[in-house]
Amino acid sequence: MGELSKRIEEKAGAVRAALEAAVHAHRQVVYANSLGAEAMVLTDIIWSHVPQIQIFSIDTGRLPQETYDLMEKLQWRYRRPLRLVHPEAAALARLTATHGVNGFYHSLEARLECCQVRKIEPFRRAIAGFSAWVTGVRREQSDTRARAEPLEWDTQHGLYKVSPLLEWSESEVWQYIRGRGLPYNVLHDRQFPSIGCAPCTRAIQPGESRRAGRWWWEQSESRECGLHPRVREAIGA
Ligand code: SF4
Repeated sequence: MGELSKRIEEKAGAVRAALEAAVHAHRQVVYANSLGAEAMVLTDIIWSHVPQIQIFSIDTGRLPQETYDLMEKLQWRYRRPLRLVHPEAAALARLTATHGVNGFYHSLEARLECCQVRKIEPFRRAIAGFSAWVTGVRREQSDTRARAEPLEWDTQHGLYKVSPLLEWSESEVWQYIRGRGLPYNVLHDRQFPSIGCAPCTRAIQPGESRRAGRWWWEQSESRECGLHPRVREAIGA
């Protein structure tokens, strides 16, 4: 394990302060843990310093084994259970009866329906009743995220959205992970910058965009799952 530079320590301190302020202002705060690299930073700060913030992850039922392994590592490290939110059983049964277990490869309609049942509905259910939710989005990830604010009203979901990592670079995220010796998804070491469900994620080639490995068989304009882009990134969709 390395050490954190003074700069990273200061940035981590600012994240902690932003999260504490969010709890003070909004009381019921929840973190949708995507289990990506940024999520390791936020999980560490929340579970170490701001445990009033509740954490959940969505288990779509189709995640890579490496992601389940990461869940185990997190639970061991922090000695806390990670709350998992699952798709609704009846909706899942209807989905597979209609489209088959791998229907997402056969039509865009089936793919969007799968994302709706396995990700979007569980996400909405998990944030219901909270006053604010935390995301790990960073400005440099896209033009949309470059215009984000640290605290915004999320009109789509009707609660505040707190984004304390906006000013972090990817390098700083990894400096924090390495410096603190945090667990992370080992797929990141195999050219998977963005990790979602196993059947819908592949490694990227040099020069490809970080989301090129998601739903790679579709036209690029359809590669979304019905969530706002910032929400998508935040929950690993
Ligand atoms: S990413 Fe693929 S498997 Fe996961 S919910 Fe969407 S379509 Fe279904």
